[in-house]
Amino acid sequence: MQIHTRAVHAGDRKRAGAHVPATTPIYTATSYSYDSMAQLDRVFGQEEKGYCYSRYDNPNAAALEELICSLEGGAGAQSCASGMAALQLAIACALADRRKSIVAASALYGATIGLLMNVLEPMGIAVRFADVCDLDALRTAVAEARPGCIVIETICNPLVRVGPVDRIAEIAREAGAALVVDNTFGTPLLLRPLDLGAHFSVHSVTKYLAGHGDVMGGVVITDAQHLEGLRSLARTLGPVLGPFESYLTMRGIKTFPLRMERQCANACRVASWLSTHPEVARVHFTGDPAHPDSATVRRLFPPNLYGAMVSFEIRGEGREDVFRFMDRLRMIVRATSLGDVHTMMLYPAMSSHRDLSPKHRQRLGIGDTLVRLSVGIEAPEDIIADLSQALEISPSA
Ligand SMILES: *Cc1c(COP(=O)(O)O)cnc(C)c1O
Repeated sequence: MQIHTRAVHAGDRKRAGAHVPATTPIYTATSYSYDSMAQLDRVFGQEEKGYCYSRYDNPNAAALEELICSLEGGAGAQSCASGMAALQLAIACALADRRKSIVAASALYGATIGLLMNVLEPMGIAVRFADVCDLDALRTAVAEARPGCIVIETICNPLVRVGPVDRIAEIAREAGAALVVDNTFGTPLLLRPLDLGAHFSVHSVTKYLAGHGDVMGGVVITDAQHLEGLRSLARTLGPVLGPFESYLTMRGIKTFPLRMERQCANACRVASWLSTHPEVARVHFTGDPAHPDSATVRRLFPPNLYGAMVSFEIRGEGREDVFRFMDRLRMIVRATSLGDVHTMMLYPAMSSHRDLSPKHRQRLGIGDTLVRLSVGIEAPEDIIADLSQALEISPSA
């Protein structure tokens, strides 16, 4: 079945007694009782399918995990309370029986860099950053660091670089390392990392998958080799997603492929409009034929789906010009997230990458006039009209 069909059907309609609800109801119960101790024993021992305690499993989380697995491939999934909880769980599982060393993409979501540098490194895990769009540089880093795990994003934050996930997976496998791919920006509509050889795919479902800016969640999808380890680690650590959040995420996912197609099409329109605007110094968009990773994008993504993130640099000196421009926005939401139905704009130097030193930001190419636009599902004319009026900045005297 096609992704649009799976998004609507997978996970739902489990028998609950005599009747089958058409969509999965919300199960708030934290524990389950059974007719006999013998049966409870079998469920606890995982010899018989069933629920016993919500930190282990819950019908809403299970339905969501089945749905996401159906979209993304893989042997199974574990839903988590946030994207960061999911990333941490995936890395912990990847390193459980491997060398305690990580090679990570140099361009990553700000909090992911924080997780690596401020949490994992002080715990004794060696972390080395490498440009994953330069395979020779990555090979050298892997040969020297001999990592147990490689961490990348499918579309890097915020400059939308795209590494060749399949080739990076080969490098990881040759080195005996697990590949963890944050597919939040890519989404299963554009790319399925496990099909390309990754061991773990991670999402902040807060973004495109849930898509409405009203629920926080994460998920790890993995292969048969790591599934039991992942589930068992989650049962112990307890990063689990609640039933109501699972329900909202499932509800959001039913329209995810439709939304994402529209967002990708809108992003193409907006990016090409921006690239001709005199107040815009530079546009970073994966659909641009001049994008440095255009060949990889065209090789790995379906035709005409390039993602819906557009970063651009406005002309000006820095923070004050960006503030003036963003303060003029009328419809586009000034907010620190992405992937929602509404278009939103973020200033990386002030939000997602605020905790990095100015030097670190500079090294990543995140300048003081760079803004990141998450294109929504509105009429593209209205998005462009809002950008157009906001860009009519009176030049700073
Ligand atoms: C938002 C985001 C995260 C973190 O997800 P939360 O749900 O906010 O914890 C991780 N990676 C990427 C690429 C993100 O955009």
